[in-house]
Amino acid sequence: MEGKFYPVAVPVFNGNEKKYVMDCIDSTWISSTGKYITAFEEAFAAFCGARYAVSCSNGTTALHLALLANGVGSGDEVIVPTLTFIATANAVVYCGAKPVFADCEPDTWNMNLEHLESLITPKTKGIIPVHLYGHPADMDAVNALAAKHGLFVIEDAAEALGAEYKGRRTGSLSGCATFSLFGNKIITTGEGGMITTDDEQLAAKMRTLRGQGIDPVRKYWFPVIGYNYRLTNLQAAVGLAQLENIDWHVGERVRVASLYESMLRDESGLTLPVQKDWAKNVYWMFSIVLNGYDEPQRNQFMAMLKQDGIETRPFFYPMHVLPPYEGLQSHEEFPVANRIASQGLNVPTYGGLSEADIQYITGRIKHHLRNE
Ligand SMILES: *Cc1c(COP(=O)(O)O)cnc(C)c1O
Repeated sequence: MEGKFYPVAVPVFNGNEKKYVMDCIDSTWISSTGKYITAFEEAFAAFCGARYAVSCSNGTTALHLALLANGVGSGDEVIVPTLTFIATANAVVYCGAKPVFADCEPDTWNMNLEHLESLITPKTKGIIPVHLYGHPADMDAVNALAAKHGLFVIEDAAEALGAEYKGRRTGSLSGCATFSLFGNKIITTGEGGMITTDDEQLAAKMRTLRGQGIDPVRKYWFPVIGYNYRLTNLQAAVGLAQLENIDWHVGERVRVASLYESMLRDESGLTLPVQKDWAKNVYWMFSIVLNGYDEPQRNQFMAMLKQDGIETRPFFYPMHVLPPYEGLQSHEEFPVANRIASQGLNVPTYGGLSEADIQYITGRIKHHLRNE
């Protein structure tokens, strides 16, 4: 294995990406109008089982648009998991509102709903469940809680395109859902985002806000202040080609995950990702938790794998320890996230990894577990 290097993520373009991009260039339709944008949005909505899909510039602007369209503003509170990528919380702040953090579950690593319910106040406007690392949140329970308290729900499905909850795909499981099309996500457009919803009015609002707030009929009339959060036809061309091959992209992650799972499941020192019987996990990042480790030991473990040519990533730092959000809530509120975040790491997960590759990677993991 001398000289071999395994990055944690690699995008794969094995469909019509080149052809569609060349078509954009040949036709000169490279900016944010064009047939690929419409085709990509329609195919995306159909795939998720949603009526509308609104493309935008990335997964963070998708969250921002979804929150604005749901009327979030200053003084509001929105509950998000503490264990997520920072964009989930930042988008709440962009609206002038306050993110409130919930601890996570020890098995799915998704939001803990008992903690969540205890955080609801008269200021709470909505909930953003995150389908972390590709495993869907328990959406019936989230939606029931939201209905009981009159809150909106936005799925942050950035990591979980193609994942299923009780046979239904993410993107169709609540009022609206946001996706990221960043280079390391399930499918990519380089940078890009998408929002899906069944709500026609919500979709129209997001389209307006995405395009500087321009009136859809009256040219250069701006009834509201919007943003330039548009996706380009060039990006949509890549996205459409990626989406045409979604079964391959998801299938590869599932195949890679099942190889990791079969080679690591007897390691008592590890906790592996779960797949609840009501879920289909798309394993955005296959993840392992090093039982009993502290953060420096986990980092040391990652450094040893790096020497073996294996790139890994630590779990997200929980939001409540990051400088912009520290001190809002007590660290004691998050016993599970505190532990898992310091013990977890993501291992190489991408289409095309062979059984021999995974044999090598898991061999090194087992070796370092023994020699700790
Ligand atoms: C990637 C990601 C985002 C942000 O997406 P960008 O396209 O990078 O802006 C938001 N939430 C989660 C959970 C993510 O993983």
